[in-house]
Amino acid sequence: MRGRGRHRHCGHGDGPFRKGGFRRTAPRQAVLEVVREADDYLAADEVYRRVYERLEGIGIATVYRTLQLLTELGVLSRIVSDDGKALYRVADEEAALHRVVLVCRRCSARRAVPASDGALGEHLRSLYRTIENDHEFTVEQSLHQLSGLCSDCSRISHGGSPRL
Ligand SMILES: [Zn+2]
Repeated sequence: MRGRGRHRHCGHGDGPFRKGGFRRTAPRQAVLEVVREADDYLAADEVYRRVYERLEGIGIATVYRTLQLLTELGVLSRIVSDDGKALYRVADEEAALHRVVLVCRRCSARRAVPASDGALGEHLRSLYRTIENDHEFTVEQSLHQLSGLCSDCSRISHGGSPRL
């Protein structure tokens, strides 16, 4: 059995929202910490139960909305269990801090790409180092939303047939 952990939300200073103003981001912070501490997928109602222990009075709708938002942002990953329940867990620690989202201006498709892996991760870390050196500003979180054309729409606008 897990302890109640009532006071554990009082900031270890390691969360992605640590500088964001506690009041405004409290639900996000609490949801993220509950899911992170679980070490396994958690059902939405269980997330709500545990968040409520930390933020008494929080509404179930707020918790569900927060889960949905964090999933859209790529911070949490969501699966559906055999009995149809939505289950959540943290997608990846660095993904929680740095995100890249590609948005197609034509079909509005949104795609989150991993911002911490491979060449892209290298480029971003280099970008943040440059900002730190040149502008004396430490980057802790980032959200890059890039607008353009997805591969399907790009094919259409180049005059090719989209699908054969
Ligand atoms: Zn498109």
